[in-house]
Amino acid sequence: MNILVLPGDGIGPEITAATMRVVERANAAFGLGLAFAYAEIGLKALERTGTTLPEPVMAAARAADGIILGPVSHNDYPPRAEGGINVSGELRVKLDLFANIRPNRTRPGIASNARTPIDLVIVRENTEGFYADRNMFLGSGEFMPTEDMALAVRKVTAAASSRIARAAFELARERRRKVTAVHKANVLRISDGLFLREVRKIAGEFPDVALDEVIVDAMAALLVRDAQHFDVIVTTNMFGDILSDEAGELSGSLGLAGSLNAGSEHALAQAQHGSAPDIAGRNIANPTALILSCAMLLAWLGRRHQEERLSRAAAAIDAAIDATLADPALHTPDLGGSLGTDAFGAAVTEKLAALARAQA
Ligand code: NAD
Repeated sequence: MNILVLPGDGIGPEITAATMRVVERANAAFGLGLAFAYAEIGLKALERTGTTLPEPVMAAARAADGIILGPVSHNDYPPRAEGGINVSGELRVKLDLFANIRPNRTRPGIASNARTPIDLVIVRENTEGFYADRNMFLGSGEFMPTEDMALAVRKVTAAASSRIARAAFELARERRRKVTAVHKANVLRISDGLFLREVRKIAGEFPDVALDEVIVDAMAALLVRDAQHFDVIVTTNMFGDILSDEAGELSGSLGLAGSLNAGSEHALAQAQHGSAPDIAGRNIANPTALILSCAMLLAWLGRRHQEERLSRAAAAIDAAIDATLADPALHTPDLGGSLGTDAFGAAVTEKLAALARAQA
C-alpha cells in the first residue's frame, strides 16, 4: 500500500519526522508492506511552484491508499487567486473526506483538566457547514454586500447529515452504544433542524444505540462538568471543530489529540492542532497528536482491507504512546517536561518495538 506524506508548515516537518520514525518501525515490526512517498505542500510549495497545493500532489493524494498531513499555516496563505489553497480543506472536499473522527481520552501520567475521566469520540461533518472555502460550488460562502456588512452562508444537506450520522452510529456500536447529537436547532431551526431530522432517521436503524440531543452551548459546559457522560458525539462542522479542541485540552493537552479525516475511498491522518508557528524549528513540539492520527489511519486501512496486522500495529502505537506518556521523564515541554520532539519520537519507537517483540 502507498502512503503519501505531506509534512506541511511550521512544526509540521519536525513532528512529521518524529511520527514517521514510529510509523516506519510499525511497518517493519508488523510486516505491513507500506511504501512512503513524500511531497511538498504549503509555504515551501508556494515559493517554488506558485501554489500551496500543486496539481501533481493532488493527483498523488487521489492515487494513494492513505495520506499523512502535517499541520498547515493556512492563516498565512495569500488569497486563493494568488496560490493560497487551504490544503486541508481542499483535500477534505476533493477526496470527499466527509467524517472527521476526533477521539479524546484521559491517559495515564497525563493530568486531566476535566472533572471526570474522558473517553469520547467527536464525529464531525467535514465537507459543508460554515466553512466558506468549501461550501459553494463556485465562489466563497462569505461575502460583503457593503463595506460595513459581511454575510456568511452555512450549508447543511440531508445527504451529508445522514452519512455523518451513520458513521457515528456505526462507531457507537463498537463502543458504549450511545450517540449524542449536538446542535443549535433552537435558533438555527431550519439548518440544524434538518441535521437533527436526519440523525433521528438514522437512529431508527440502530435500535441498540441510544440517542440524546444537546444544544451546543450547554455541551461546552457539560464537557467540563461531566465528560464521562458522553461516548460518541455527532455534530456539524464548526461545532465539532470547536468542541473537539475543548475536549482535547480537557483530556490533558491539544497536543495529544489525534484526528482522522475519512471518506468511503480515502483517509487522511492529521493532528487536531495547527502549525504552532510560535514554537516552530525549536524541536519542542509534541508529536503525539500526529502519531495517534497515523495509528487511526492504520486502523482504517486495516478495516478497509481486512488486514489484521494493520489493526494490531494501530493498537500497538496507541499502547506505545500510553507507555511513553506514563513516564514524566519522557514528557515534552507542553506537558511540563523537557524532552525534545525527536527524542520523544525515539522513545515511542522503542516502546513500540518492545510491544511488537512481546507479541511476536
Ligand atoms: P495552533 O494549534 O497551531 O497553536 C495553538 C497553541 O498550541 C500554540 O501556543 C502552540 O504553540 C500550541 N501547540 C499546538 N500544537 C502543539 C504541539 N504539537 N506541541 C506543543 N504545542 C502545540 O493554533 P494557531 O496558533 O491558532 O494556528 C497556527 C496556524 O495553524 C494558523 O495558520 C492556522 O490557520 C493553522 N491551523 C492549521 C490546522 C491544521 O492544519 N489542521 C488546524 C488549526 C490551525
